[in-house]
Amino acid sequence: MSQLVKNISLKSYNSFGIDARAKQFFEFSEAEQLISFCKSIDIKDKEVFILGGGSNVLFTKDFNGLILHPVIKGIEITDETDSTVLVKVGAGEIWDTFVEWAVNNNYYGIENLSLIPGYVGASPVQNIGAYGVEVKDIIESVETIDIYDLTNRTFSNKDCEFEYRDSIFKSKLKSRFLITHVNFRLKKNGQLKTHYGNIETELKNFSAINLENVRQAIINIRQQKLPNPNEIGNAGSFFKNPIVSTDKANELKLEYPNIPTYPAGSRLTKLAAGWLIEQSGWKGKSIGDAAVHKNQALVIVNKANAKGFEINNLADMIVNSVFRKFGISLEKEVIIL
Ligand SMILES: Cc1cc2nc3c(=O)[nH]c(=O)nc-3n(C[C@H](O)[C@H](O)[C@H](O)COP(=O)(O)OP(=O)(O)OC[C@H]3O[C@@H](n4cnc5c(N)ncnc54)[C@H](O)[C@@H]3O)c2cc1C
Repeated sequence: MSQLVKNISLKSYNSFGIDARAKQFFEFSEAEQLISFCKSIDIKDKEVFILGGGSNVLFTKDFNGLILHPVIKGIEITDETDSTVLVKVGAGEIWDTFVEWAVNNNYYGIENLSLIPGYVGASPVQNIGAYGVEVKDIIESVETIDIYDLTNRTFSNKDCEFEYRDSIFKSKLKSRFLITHVNFRLKKNGQLKTHYGNIETELKNFSAINLENVRQAIINIRQQKLPNPNEIGNAGSFFKNPIVSTDKANELKLEYPNIPTYPAGSRLTKLAAGWLIEQSGWKGKSIGDAAVHKNQALVIVNKANAKGFEINNLADMIVNSVFRKFGISLEKEVIIL
């Protein structure tokens, strides 16, 4: 299946529910369809954006170019050892469907990433992470098509240059390589990671600690904590947690003894962006229909009919006040278009 639609509303294609329009929207389920389509147009002249589930983007205006929307399906074991399986997954599979598949088949490694919205193809882009696990820990390689010269290229884990909520696909090679498949190495007998956040407390409600229950515990915690984008538009954490020098963190600790800090490598410390935003007085504040969530200061929501630029303006105001109070520049995690 492939189709080109012109002047399409993107409202149902982004989790903020922003009613922006795209000039052209090409959806395809096979890599070959993308190649023949790109051969039939002059892609070099166009502004191009690759859209998965739209759960990490904010459209601040209509998109006057071409959106490529891969819905390539398939979950296939391509290699097996005594202790692991290599699984090739199509970019258009829903991420959480893949996690559910892994848990149902007793494969370990991605259970802590349960219920993250979006497609598998986007998972390497910002190196999705939650509850002490990042997808870089499980990715073996990423298969792509260079949309400009239409060649295939497979990136090894190292080639992807994974960082905290970042990779080569979000930085240097942004919008050039379309990810068609991701290869994940999962374990047959992995160790459960339950020391993070409230997992252990939540697991007390279960009769046993096993793979299935860890997934369910994480689903329960996330459902209590995060607003459901099907009910209220949002893109999860709007900002990255800032990483600062440990000297800077120590300075802040003198002035704000309660500031949460986490070690982040040699002489580096991670701060909680949500705490900084809350302390700057933004939790629960609205400007029109753009609002900071009442329970989670890191999440900006669309209460009803906010425009993308209004949400972005609110985000800019937050960045400015956090900088004024703490001298820290928050970086947006969400991709602004
Ligand atoms: C309620 C909520 C909770 C969230 N929680 C988390 C969390 O815990 N951890 C976390 O890391 N993220 C979280 N997110 C953010 C989001 O779910 C992830 O970033 C997810 O991977 C985005 O997937 P998507 O398919 O929606 O990508 P999109 O938003 O469509 O795109 C994101 C980026 O990936 C690129 N991209 C998408 N598909 C491809 C492809 N096939 N090839 C090349 N580039 C591509 C896009 O161009 C864009 O730059 C959350 C979001 C929401 C709404």
